[in-house]
Amino acid sequence: MSASSDPPTILSFAEARHVVEEQAASVRAAGLKATTEFVSLLDALGRVLAEPVSADRDIPPFPRSTRDGYAVLSADLTNLPATLEVIGEIKAGAKLEEIPAQVGRGQAASIMTGAPVPAGADAVVMVEYASAFGEEVRITRGVTAGENIVPRGAEAQQGNLLLECGQRLNHAAIALAASVGKSKLAVFKRPRVAVLTTGDEIVSIDDTPGPTQIRNSNTYSLAAQIQQGGGEPVLLPVAPDEAQGLRRLIEQGLEADLLLMTGGVSMGRYDLVERVLAELHAEFFFTGAQIQPGRPVVFGRCGAGALAREAAGEDSSVLSQGKYFFGLPGNPVSTMVTFELFARPMIEALTGQSPRRLMFLHVPLKTEIHVKLGLTRFLPALLTGEFENSVVEPLKWQGSGDIAAIARANCYIVIPPDKEKFAAGEFVPVMLR
Ligand code: AMP
Ligand code: MG
Repeated sequence: MSASSDPPTILSFAEARHVVEEQAASVRAAGLKATTEFVSLLDALGRVLAEPVSADRDIPPFPRSTRDGYAVLSADLTNLPATLEVIGEIKAGAKLEEIPAQVGRGQAASIMTGAPVPAGADAVVMVEYASAFGEEVRITRGVTAGENIVPRGAEAQQGNLLLECGQRLNHAAIALAASVGKSKLAVFKRPRVAVLTTGDEIVSIDDTPGPTQIRNSNTYSLAAQIQQGGGEPVLLPVAPDEAQGLRRLIEQGLEADLLLMTGGVSMGRYDLVERVLAELHAEFFFTGAQIQPGRPVVFGRCGAGALAREAAGEDSSVLSQGKYFFGLPGNPVSTMVTFELFARPMIEALTGQSPRRLMFLHVPLKTEIHVKLGLTRFLPALLTGEFENSVVEPLKWQGSGDIAAIARANCYIVIPPDKEKFAAGEFVPVMLR
């Protein structure tokens, strides 16, 4: 399989994943993070934060009422019903001079959700338990001290860290940044990820395929996944199953921050990718994983060692710093799955993002499953049902070339290598896609 002097290294799924995570950690430790840029708040959605964001003041900045009702002293409501004197009305955004200076014994202030609770009051009674009569209010339910009030600084105190450098920004993070007045954020520049697909049978999507040819879809699934992962795809032309042309394109791909290749890594006679990489003195971390689909996945690095520098010439900027690459199997579903499992964590490291564990949900099976032992399987599947009644079932598919089936799937059922039968109703791990 491999033309490298190293023997092929086939790892279990967990081992292969850990190898990638270790290399991703070394990318982070070496500070190979992209440089930063400032973008407007909304453009920061999905980007990786390159600055810490702290609270510019206490949050909330005043004791905040969480209900419409009456600010009271809880001790006044031990005998019910209780009648209190209403000394004012506090709207959200009320000016300081509109807020009663002090609520005393036997008194209450009408208050709205989001308004500051006046001094003296220690709880808010919901309006549902109060009836106003002129200057008085009759209250029918007691409260404990602190009820319906968020104290000043309870959510965060001025100067507290709210968003960490390395965090990928989702809508909640955008809201938090907005709440502390950040209209621009420093984010890491996106890493450039080259995509190179190989195979004499593959034609560009603008060409008319011959009777034995197929259109290039992998370049596009990968480019889409790279974008979702926070990278910037760099699309290379389709490489032929011929060593010289392939080598030229691989060298071009190694100029990016990461190179993803698809096709040409299985046992086929024209599967040249590994041979060409070996010529470039690549180091292979693994040349296969015990998974299905995606068994022939390759992960390595080019140009990190002295040997490779010598081979490339000391002045070669392409190979001197060392670049990671993945050889992903050409079958479209294998390409997609191996990207998610292995390429994504490396891209995330290159975006400056903090490490994330791969997490699976557990969902009951709709129908029983039988599989052969030995491989961790990622079966394209459909998660259906509503509310707490979710169930999952594998889709019928024609194997890992079946793009139509994968496009109907919304998740993968993850089958561990040591179990061959799963009953209907049994909980199975599911990876969302
Ligand atoms: P390979 O890994 O090169 O042996 O390819 C495995 C299968 O995936 C073959 O059926 C290829 O025709 C198919 N394939 C390889 N590259 C692509 C691509 N870019 N788009 C669609 N199918 C591909
Ligand atoms: Mg091929």
